[in-house]
Amino acid sequence: MHESQLARKLVATLEAAVKEQGASGVKSVKVRLGGVHWVDSEAFRELFTLFSQGTASEGTELIIEEAPPEAKCSQCGSTFTPHDHEPVCPQCGSREIELVAEPDLQVLEISLLMPTLQ
Ligand SMILES: [Zn+2]
Repeated sequence: MHESQLARKLVATLEAAVKEQGASGVKSVKVRLGGVHWVDSEAFRELFTLFSQGTASEGTELIIEEAPPEAKCSQCGSTFTPHDHEPVCPQCGSREIELVAEPDLQVLEISLLMPTLQ
């Protein structure tokens, strides 16, 4: 499952950030989820909660910004948001559609919990 790979990647990214910054945990993380693979954000959220158990990112508030997939018509060049897996160009009716690639998961903001200074 694609969501599962992305959720694991996010947990790994947060672990690395915590180590690098010497933080005690992760308060919240904001991600942009979307692109060409039709990611299910609710499934992603559940998997993230599951995979983060026992890690520094357990209990992290996950803020998801959903980015719609974008497609481009190879015939007339117009871009649009496809609503199913076999998109048809709304301008010219062509089925020669190219899905515009963008990263599925972008980490926009990580808010770390820093250990209290003595
Ligand atoms: Zn077109």
